[in-house]
Parts: sequence; structure tokens; C-alpha cells
Amino acid sequence: MPAAHILVAGGGIAGLSSALALARRRHRVDLFEQALAFAEVGAGIQLGPNVARRLQALGVWEPLMRIAAKPEALVVRSAVHGGEIARLPLGNAMLRSYGAPYLCAHRADLHGLLLAAVRGSGAVTLNTGARITDAVARAGAVCVASTATHAWEGDALIGADGLWSAVRARVVGDDQPPRETGHTAWRALITQSSLPAALRSNQVSVWLGPRLHAVAYPVRRGEALNVVVLAEAAPTGDARDWDQASSLATLQAATGHTDASVQALLEAMPAWRAWTLCDRPPLSGPEQMAGERVALAGDAAHPMLPYLAQGAGMAIEDAVALAEALDGCDAEAVPQRLALYARARWQRNAQVQAKARRNGEIFHATGLMRMGRDAAMRMMGSRLLDQPWLYGA
Ligand SMILES: Cc1cc2nc3c(=O)[nH]c(=O)nc-3n(C[C@H](O)[C@H](O)[C@H](O)COP(=O)(O)OP(=O)(O)OC[C@H]3O[C@@H](n4cnc5c(N)ncnc54)[C@H](O)[C@@H]3O)c2cc1C
Repeated sequence: MPAAHILVAGGGIAGLSSALALARRRHRVDLFEQALAFAEVGAGIQLGPNVARRLQALGVWEPLMRIAAKPEALVVRSAVHGGEIARLPLGNAMLRSYGAPYLCAHRADLHGLLLAAVRGSGAVTLNTGARITDAVARAGAVCVASTATHAWEGDALIGADGLWSAVRARVVGDDQPPRETGHTAWRALITQSSLPAALRSNQVSVWLGPRLHAVAYPVRRGEALNVVVLAEAAPTGDARDWDQASSLATLQAATGHTDASVQALLEAMPAWRAWTLCDRPPLSGPEQMAGERVALAGDAAHPMLPYLAQGAGMAIEDAVALAEALDGCDAEAVPQRLALYARARWQRNAQVQAKARRNGEIFHATGLMRMGRDAAMRMMGSRLLDQPWLYGA
């Protein structure tokens, strides 16, 4: 017999990994996705060893190995003169230190393998075209309303409905919209075989420049290269749209001059899409992550700047912790178990959010701070780039 009946709002990485983790613990899950079909944007995603270990625990290791790239190193260079500043070996070094590799994947591939695993679990009902609009606690249950169905009742509701979450206000108690950070991400994807040999890469390459940085890394077993340029620049479109059409000219107008090696890579890209970056302040305590029978997961709880490449990672960590907290529990025990989950997660998420913001200040430094940063990175190299507190937990 399933232990509890859990409703999940949102079919992104947080919602799907939560549904999968809960199904693995024998819970019955109803997942509601507002879109008519499940989809992810055509961009890459880095998965640190902390995340790779969780995906292994969720039983999706084999499909993950079929889609992921395993970069050999993280190399930091100057976006101004192109010279190398520091490097961190990934590959076997990560495996030895943290028991799992550092992986890079195409979002649609990761999302697709989670969806396939959810479907294969036999314990999750997927409802599309179903936007959750309200949630009300009743005696011993939570009742949600959606646009597709009149009302659903379950033992718990997990708000995994992303940056613009409708469930969040129900738990956090504020009605504040996400804050626009004044940063924009431009992204592009290309098959490596269509790049000149000098631009092909099996590394995570990061170029640091004044008020900007660029990142390139392989996806699809190394067959494609994902490129992202992140700059302190005015939004180019609707902040709710993660997939705005853009161009190299718009990107270059925002970033100005960069080294010829960076320019060559940017010019080789077939098309650019833009993303207005938003975040929220960290939650101030566990009571903001779960209350009674409603809890948050992923960006609904802790949207962050992508400067630590761990937003989806924290969503996947949430999913595993949620299922551990709800393990073997029945309907009655749900509120206490959700409180356990919130206690296990809120501080780590807040720490990662704060570190991501701080990284932005360091990556985009100008003047003396930039010189100090480069000197420290040259001196300390991999000791500064490695993140044992993050990858080892
Ligand atoms: C440029 C950039 C690069 C990034 N790189 C990385 C990286 O390398 N590594 C990493 O770990 N993270 C990265 N991130 C962060 C990562 O993309 C997010 O943290 C992650 O996608 C959040 O997943 P989610 O499921 O919580 O939210 P979403 O992906 O937003 O999914 C929410 C889902 O809920 C649905 N929904 C919304 N409202 C409702 C509702 N009311 N009812 C029903 N359904 C609803 C939406 O349609 C959507 O499908 C990056 C982010 C950006 C912007």
C-alpha cells in the first residue's frame, strides 16, 4: 500500500525529481504542470558531484551516463587578455574526492530522463495543462484547485512551481515578486563538429571580465558545446520568458570588448537566446520552507543567480531530502515530516544562494578587486576553485 498521497505543483527539474524520489519511497503522487506538454529550454546544465550522487540514488545513473559529458577540468581565464588564471582538475579527481564525477548535460536530456523514470515508476499520475491556482488546508488534508480540474485532495502539496511560484505565498507568507538582479544571461548551443578544432573543448571554461563572465562546457557526451555569457546589463525582454530571442549584436552591445579567443567563440555560435536573471533573498527559517501540509522545493523556495551552477542541483537535493523525510510516513505524520524536511534543507539552500551572489561580485570584479582576485586565484589555484562544503555534502 502507498504510504501517503502527495500532490506536486510543477513539472520542471524540481517537480519531476521530487515525484520520482517520492515514488521510489512508495508514495502515490499526482503531478500538475501548467504547460500543455513537458519541456525544458535548449541549454546546458552543470551537475556537481553532490548532484551526481543524488541522481545515482534516484536510480537514473545509466540513462544519465548515456547523455552526460564528463569535462576533464575547470579552467578560469581572463576575458580581457585570454590568459589562464587557475584550473581545477575534474574527471577522476572529482571521483576520488567526492565519490562521483562532475557532469554537464543538456537540460532537455536531463528533464527527459527524469520524466521517463517518473513514467516508469508507475506511481505518478501526470496532469498537463493543469495550473495550480490555490491550496487550502482542510482537516488532515490539503485541497488544491487547478485550471484543468476543479479540486484535488491529498496528504501534502509540494510547491515545485519555479521562480514565479503560486504556492510560495501560501508557505512564506509574503507576496513579493522575484527581484530582477540587473543581470542577463545569453546562451547558445552548437555541435562541436561544426566548430573549428581550436574552439572545440572538453573543459568547463570560464572567462572573467569586468561586470561579465562567460562559460562554455560540453554536453551530450561531448558532442555539443553550451556557451553562456552573463553580464550586468539591462533586461532584453519579459523576465518571465527564459527563452527570449536575441542576437550577437545585442550581446556585444552589452558586454563591450573581450579577448579575441572569446570573440571567436561567440561569433561561431549559430543563434543566441536571452534570459533575464532574477532571484529572491534566502528564506529566513524552516517555517518558510514548509508549513503544515504544504512545502516548497527548487526555485519556488530558493531561486538564485546561476554563478555557482547549483540551482537545479539544490532542487535535486531537495527532492532526495523530501523523500527521506517522508519515508514510511502515513497521512497523519505528514506535517511533522515536512517540518523535518524543511529543517534539513533551508540553511544549505540559503548558503548556496548567498555564495552564488558573492561569486557574481568576485567574477565581475573591476579595478583593484579584480587584480586581487586574479592574484589569489593564481596563487591558490585549485584550492580556491574546489568547493568541498558543497560537493562533499
Ligand atoms: C542561465 C542559467 C544557467 C543555469 N545553470 C545551472 C547549472 O549549470 N546548474 C544548476 O544546477 N542550475 C543552473 N541553473 C538554475 C536552474 O536552471 C534552476 O534552478 C532550475 O531549473 C529550477 O527548476 P525548478 O523545477 O525549480 O523550476 P522550473 O524549471 O521553473 O520549473 C517549474 C515548473 O512549474 C511549472 N509551473 C509554474 N507555475 C505552475 C503552477 N501554478 N501550476 C502548475 N505548474 C506550474 C512551470 O511551467 C515549470 O514547468 C541555471 C539558471 C540559469 C538562469
